[in-house]
Amino acid sequence: MAQYTPMMKQYLQIKEQYKDSFLFFRLGDFYEMFFDDALQASKELEITLTSRDGGDERIPMCGIPYHSAANYIKNLIEKGYKVAICEQVEDPKQAKGVVKREVIQVITPGTVMEDELLDDKENNYIASLTPFSDTEYVIAYNDLSTGENSVAKIEEQFDSVLSELFNRPVKEIVVPPDFNEQLKEALQQRLFMTVSVEDNTDIPEEYMNLVDNLKEDKLISGFGRLFQYLARTQKRALTHLQKVQYIELKQYMNLDMYSKRNLELTETIRKQGKQGSLLWVLDKTVTAMGARMLKKWIDRPLLSVDDISRRHGQVEGLIEQYFEREALRDALQEVYDLERLSGRVAFGNVNARDLIQLKKSLKQIPEIKDLLSQFEQKDLKGLASQLNPLTELTNLLEKSIADDPSLSIKEGGIIKDGFHHLLDQYRSASRNGKQWIAELEQKEKEASGIKSLKIGYNKVFGYYIEVTKANLHLIPEGRYERKQTLSNAERYITPELKEKESLILESEDKSVELEYEIFIDIREQVKGYITELQHLADQISQLDVLQSFAIVSDENQYIKPSFTESRKLLIENGRHPVVEKVMKNEMFVPNDIRMDENSEILLITGPNMAGKSTYMRQLALTVIMGQIGCFVPCDSAELPVFDQIFTRIGAADDLVAGQSTFMVEMLEAKHALTKATENSLILLDEIGRGTSTYDGMSLAQAIVEYIHESIHAKTLFSTHYHELTSLDDSLTRLKNVHVKAEEHEGKVVFLHKIQDGAADESYGIHVAKLAELPEELIERAYDILHQFEETSGSNSLPKVEEKQLDFFQAEPEPVEQKPKVNTSEEKVVKELKTLNLLNMTPMEAMNT
Ligand code: ADP
Repeated sequence: MAQYTPMMKQYLQIKEQYKDSFLFFRLGDFYEMFFDDALQASKELEITLTSRDGGDERIPMCGIPYHSAANYIKNLIEKGYKVAICEQVEDPKQAKGVVKREVIQVITPGTVMEDELLDDKENNYIASLTPFSDTEYVIAYNDLSTGENSVAKIEEQFDSVLSELFNRPVKEIVVPPDFNEQLKEALQQRLFMTVSVEDNTDIPEEYMNLVDNLKEDKLISGFGRLFQYLARTQKRALTHLQKVQYIELKQYMNLDMYSKRNLELTETIRKQGKQGSLLWVLDKTVTAMGARMLKKWIDRPLLSVDDISRRHGQVEGLIEQYFEREALRDALQEVYDLERLSGRVAFGNVNARDLIQLKKSLKQIPEIKDLLSQFEQKDLKGLASQLNPLTELTNLLEKSIADDPSLSIKEGGIIKDGFHHLLDQYRSASRNGKQWIAELEQKEKEASGIKSLKIGYNKVFGYYIEVTKANLHLIPEGRYERKQTLSNAERYITPELKEKESLILESEDKSVELEYEIFIDIREQVKGYITELQHLADQISQLDVLQSFAIVSDENQYIKPSFTESRKLLIENGRHPVVEKVMKNEMFVPNDIRMDENSEILLITGPNMAGKSTYMRQLALTVIMGQIGCFVPCDSAELPVFDQIFTRIGAADDLVAGQSTFMVEMLEAKHALTKATENSLILLDEIGRGTSTYDGMSLAQAIVEYIHESIHAKTLFSTHYHELTSLDDSLTRLKNVHVKAEEHEGKVVFLHKIQDGAADESYGIHVAKLAELPEELIERAYDILHQFEETSGSNSLPKVEEKQLDFFQAEPEPVEQKPKVNTSEEKVVKELKTLNLLNMTPMEAMNT
């Protein structure tokens, strides 16, 4: 290191400890970056790369002004990087040699506290992952902005860890130094997390109370790793951290990553946005805290009938009293983000405006209590007496913080008159001084006869008397001292003016200083209420979600489901909550779903576009809505409590992992088949279609049989393998249903109505007939179909290995045909080849 200047040596020493972060090195009014940091930052931030003399060599460097650093930091954090802020920690004037510098905070994707970096409606989690074996992991979570902590244990393969992490918006994950590289890659590439490392898992004595409810050392050390990382990066007291909640995963419905994506619970697969998801339909929350809570509820449906019923009871109570509910909603609307406000109080980065928001929020509580007490429903009424309006705190804020305070807490204008005696004195001194100056202006005007004479103030010269050039001859002899010349005026001072000026400025300085001290004191006092504030925030967010459920249920005519101990499932006139919302002109066709101990598996047949997958998804969404405490879209519902839902639906391509669609299909199926219990719900849509006909059909049949014999889970199984419908002869708990399409004025019409029994096998030929294919061809098709029916036994596949004709195959393989068919078929093929599929709607293509 010898060749570097002392400052560069200091830089390199500090950088050594923050290798995984951009080091923002404070130099005067700039944060500078050097070496590789500079090279990379200049690219990422599109700022100019320069260089600096560092001793023997020129060192790459780039810098950003400290006052505009926030945007650059935001940019880097959003890209998943970390930024270590290194400040000068002594006064450069006093420093001997190089100014002392220290990293005061490391800002990371999982630990940002700045409002502009956070999404109001989403938690910002950081997690730690500690493996104890290949099938034992502890995950700890923290949201630094709200202080929430929790920990869960997973005694399964790593796949389940991914599914669990997928549950939450986790931006960053902390792992031990020897963490498996392959797993690390999975976290980065499949879940897009920043991976950080922490070795230390100790919890300091003064924080032990956070974990005293945890029963297992493994859980405690899992949280310890996260805590140490937070302490190391934030470098301040973490007083707002809440007690670590143990998440008993068995208390919640297990929804794996595939199902969450497939069912589009919180975002859609294609658009990656909320629009079109279940969350989109259910979210009528009016607070940011409520919106975050709703997401948590959707991610973790309940299993306890008591807990579910409690939510349903409250939703019902809210539905019944429309006016009170609307008033409650209005009152909630005025409540700010109490949770994040208290987080920022603890972190020491609130300003006076934040405290005004806190005050306004607290002032809503008495009204909310009053409204709640007007409800008949017992839990809502009960909540009225449980809400703590924190009157003392409200009064403190009311008396102390100015109504429209300035943004900065260091420039005064934040504390009310009458709150602090000494502050009042300074203020009146400065006010008196100003009054005196106003009077002086009047006096001088009269004495000199200069009507335009005025007294002004600027930062450089202080108070001055200004006289225009035209009136200079009128100024009193000898009393004015010239200070500044402007183009059309002169500025003067007098000794008595300067005397008053120093009095005013001094008292202003003192009062600004004192205001800051008072503010810090108030902030400390607010800190004392953090636990209560967090509790209040929790109650308000839950209430917000419940009122959201009530509105949505009311507006969309959802009903309260009942839960049965028996294995019966009965939904009358069920609808798909999202599809019915996005349908414009047409009406959604409701359908019943009936399953009991004699019909565990529904085998659904019917043509494409008939509504099979909508029907399947609708059941899953109804189950989830019911178990999170919302009402459900149907006329009546009797449901068992499902412990897990597994899906293999539609085109959820796992492109990142680079697996073939068929492989993904099989992985998802495996997932369901190995984990499902008799209390689970399995949805399998057209399984096996990714391979050749008999191959796929055999797999599909084997899967159905396996579920029927070994799992007993309630299963909806859609298939285009008509042969499978004969399974109802041998599998007693399998039932055939189908969606029928009808002919109307020569067109295919989808009625979207589910009916008992198997679909008409000759449906395809029927459509061909509608499309007026040559008569002889149609006859021949029926012929072939009958041959197939004869060769295939009721429960076995035809012996002849035939290739399925692929509609869209570019080069159809020559199929041996009888000459009779050949000519007309050639015509058809020719016609099909001339079709411009890109210009056709799916419906037109179908009809053609
Ligand atoms: P399949 O799975 O049988 O190919 P889908 O479930 O994808 O069919 O449904 C095809 C389209 O039909 C959907 O996009 C939807 O707009 C419409 N649809 C499905 N079910 C219904 C219904 N019950 N009522 C009205 N329209 C429906």
